Amino acid sequence: MVELHPPLNVRRLVLHSCCAPCTTAIAECMVQNGLEPIIFFFNPNIHPKQEYEKRKQECTRYATQLGLTFIDADYDHAAWLSAVAGLEDEPERQGRCLRCFEVRLLAAAQFTQQQGLQVFTTTLAASRWKRLDQVQQAGQQAQETVPGVTFWSNNWRKGGLQERRNQLIAELGLYNQTYCGCEFSVRKK
Ligand code: SF4
Repeated sequence: MVELHPPLNVRRLVLHSCCAPCTTAIAECMVQNGLEPIIFFFNPNIHPKQEYEKRKQECTRYATQLGLTFIDADYDHAAWLSAVAGLEDEPERQGRCLRCFEVRLLAAAQFTQQQGLQVFTTTLAASRWKRLDQVQQAGQQAQETVPGVTFWSNNWRKGGLQERRNQLIAELGLYNQTYCGCEFSVRKK
């Protein structure tokens, strides 16, 4: 088992979840370490709505299986489109994706503060398709914007978690999406 050492030695924290596959090994590992993550599903980037519902449903299924609290956060795709306006034609892993992470992690930081908790992290960095440096930059920025919260900047691809992720997806028959999430990632894949 990978030993986890969250900031401030907290037990309860917020885990921003982008989808069930990326959440699997991280949430399991947290539970094995005696941590109590609240699964915060905030992904207004996902398009179309049916795809969003499908990913959310799978994530709910997994959180329930682990006995974790699942927060179904707001889905405002129009607001997300406004946030990335002007960046639509950027290739993946560039400016639009950084902005997308900033939007999602700011919401996670705000939720953490509202809950009276101190630490948040995200499953976004679990995928090898995402740039770890961009996720860390967005997390850091959210931490600086929202007083009293700390971003746990862990590399969730290490310690066998990537392999365990793939194993759990197969074992549980989880829906594994074929594109990142937004309409622009469908068009450009
Ligand atoms: S490609 Fe993925 S990370 Fe990038 S903007 Fe679209 S949904 Fe967000």
